[in-house]
Amino acid sequence: MMFRSPIKHCRNCGTTVVYRIPDDGDTRERAVCPACDTIHYENPLPVVGTVPHWGDQVLLCKRNIEPRWGKWTLPAGFMELGETTEQGAARETDEEAGALFEMQGLITVMSVPRVGQVHLFYRAKLLSEAFNPGHETIEARLFTEDEIPWEEIAFRTVKETLHRYFEDRRKGRFEVHAFDIV
Ligand code: ZN
Repeated sequence: MMFRSPIKHCRNCGTTVVYRIPDDGDTRERAVCPACDTIHYENPLPVVGTVPHWGDQVLLCKRNIEPRWGKWTLPAGFMELGETTEQGAARETDEEAGALFEMQGLITVMSVPRVGQVHLFYRAKLLSEAFNPGHETIEARLFTEDEIPWEEIAFRTVKETLHRYFEDRRKGRFEVHAFDIV
């Protein structure tokens, strides 16, 4: 999850773009094509995932991909066109953990302006302890709060979401937590 590299070529005609403020009252620099005048707008991307839980344990996946290879994470990834946030979160959970689960409520909404992303996590109730992780995962296993390798968690949004999940679980009431990662 890194900042996207700048656009180099026009998506319409392939000409090398220039970064400038378009003449249409815009206030930001955009990749503008000097040949066909196409303006390429770049906007934040949604990342969607789940907190799969089983009793007092949560499911974490050990990453088999960069960045943060070998670190632990919750199932999450970029939303695809044509799906809802909840469908995307369920798809990522299926792909990365291969678990049987039931989707539940939203738990965190986090803006991450440094990388141009918004992360949303849902709770997901696991229906079995059998996991069949995909190629992006080395290992998927359950952890109690005390067992979580906090120093080996891949992303701050995952760590913050896990903290909110266990806090709410102790209170016996789940809420939506909206905050910024700056
Ligand atoms: Zn062009």
